Amino acid sequence: MGKEIPYKIYLEEQEMPDKWYNVRADMKNKPAPLLNPGTLAPLTFEEMRGIFCDELCRQELDDTTPYFEIPTKIKDFYRMYRPSPLVRAYCLEEKLQTPAKIYYKFEGNNTSGSHKLNSAIAQAYYAKEQGLKGVTTETGAGQWGTALSMACAYLGLECHVYMVKCSYEQKPFRREVMRTYGANVTPSPSDTTNVGRKILEEFPGTTGSLGCAISEAVEAATSKEGYRYVLGSVLTQVLLHQSVIGLEAKAAMDKYGIHPDMIIGCAGGGSNLGGLISPFMGEKLRGEADYEFIAVEPASCPSLTRGKYVYDFCDTGKVCPLAKMYTLGSGFIPAPNHAGGLRYHGMSSVLSQLYHDGYMKAISVEQTAVFKAAEEFARVEGILPAPESSHAIKAAIDEALKCKETGEEKTILFGLTGTGYFDMTAYERFNDGTMTDYVPTDEELKKGLEGIPKFPGNEI
Ligand SMILES: *Cc1c(COP(=O)(O)O)cnc(C)c1O
Repeated sequence: MGKEIPYKIYLEEQEMPDKWYNVRADMKNKPAPLLNPGTLAPLTFEEMRGIFCDELCRQELDDTTPYFEIPTKIKDFYRMYRPSPLVRAYCLEEKLQTPAKIYYKFEGNNTSGSHKLNSAIAQAYYAKEQGLKGVTTETGAGQWGTALSMACAYLGLECHVYMVKCSYEQKPFRREVMRTYGANVTPSPSDTTNVGRKILEEFPGTTGSLGCAISEAVEAATSKEGYRYVLGSVLTQVLLHQSVIGLEAKAAMDKYGIHPDMIIGCAGGGSNLGGLISPFMGEKLRGEADYEFIAVEPASCPSLTRGKYVYDFCDTGKVCPLAKMYTLGSGFIPAPNHAGGLRYHGMSSVLSQLYHDGYMKAISVEQTAVFKAAEEFARVEGILPAPESSHAIKAAIDEALKCKETGEEKTILFGLTGTGYFDMTAYERFNDGTMTDYVPTDEELKKGLEGIPKFPGNEI
C-alpha cells in the first residue's frame, strides 16, 4: 500500500510485556486507601484477605512497587488472544478528511469480547495458586461474567456469577456463554443469600441492580469455605492487570517512533482507561514526556464530571469497604433509557486522584451521539464496537474534526475496548430512531449524593 505505518501494528510474541506496571508507584499524591466502614480505619491486609485472595490483597495495597512480574501461566493464556492489534484508522481518517492521525488499541479479539479477560485470568490464577475452590462475582451486561467464566474454565476453578435479573432474562445469550464455560449463573436478587432474601422481601418483583448483585456475591464468597470474591473494574489491582493494554500500545508505537498527543478512553469503573494510560501517565508523572488524557463518560452517569470526590460505598448493600472516589452516591441508578453500559456510580480511586490533581481531563457525551459515532466507525473500520467503547470513538472523532478546522496534525490514540454483538437491542433502538438522551438534573443527582456516608472530613 506504500503506507509508512502499517494498518495494524502487531508486536511479536516475545515483545509482549513480562511485567505489569503499577502507576501508583509514580504518583506523588497516592490514591486514598480503602476504609473499613465500621471503624473508618484503612482496611488492613488481614481484613481484606477474607474477601480477596492473598496475592491480590498485596497488589491492592501496594502503592510503591512499580513493576509486578506476570506469571508464566498468565502469559501463556494472554498468548491465546494477545498481543492485541494497534490499528491505524486510515479509513476513518479518510472519511473524516482530517489531518489527525488516529490509532486504536483493539481489545475485542477474544470470545468474551472485551478487555476484561486481562484481569479475569490474573484474578482466577491467584485464587487457584492459593488452593481455593472457586470465586464469586456479579455481572450486569455480562462481559465480566463471561471473561471470568473463561478464565476459571482454563484453570479448573469453580465460578459462581450473580447476574442482574433483568439482564439474566433479557440477555440469554450471554448467560449461555457463561454456562458453556462451566459457570453457575444465578439471577440476582436470589433467595440463596441473606441479603438477596432481604431485598426480595422489601422489593418483591425487583429486577435487580449491579450494587445488589455485588452484595450477594460478596456474601456468597465470605460465607463459603474456599471461596473468594473477584471484581472486574474499579480496584487498583484491576488497573494493574489492565496496564498490559498500555504497555503493548506503547511498545508498538515506540517501534515506529509514534508519539501520541492525546490518549482517550471510555470510563465506567476506570479499568480500561487506567490500563491504557498507565505507562504514558508514568512518563508524565516522572516529567519525561507530556500527553493529554481524556476520560469519556455517559452524560447519564457522569461520576467524574458531576460527582463528588469523597469516600463512598462501593455497593448498594453497603457491605463493601469505603473507597475515596468521584461518585454519584451508591444509590444512584442511571435512567432506564440508558443503554450503553458504564453505569457504575463511582470511579477508580487511582483515576479519581489523577483527575483531581489535574493530570487528566473528563468529558461526558450523550448516547444517541455515541451510537451515531459507533455507526460511522463500523461502516468504515469494519468492527462493530461495544456501546461502551463507542464513547471513546465519539470523543476521538470530535478531536479529529477539531484538527480539520485548525489544520493540526495531532496523533490520537483511543481504546477500543470491545465488540457489540450482544448489544443489538440498543442498536435496534438507535436504528429505529426510538433511542433518547437523558441527562439527570442537579436535583436528581442530589438524591444520590445524599446517600454518601457522613463523617468528619467527608463532607460533600
Ligand atoms: C466493562 C467494559 C467497559 C467499562 O469498564 P472500565 O472498567 O471503565 O474499563 C468498557 N468497555 C467494555 C467493552 C466493557 O466490557
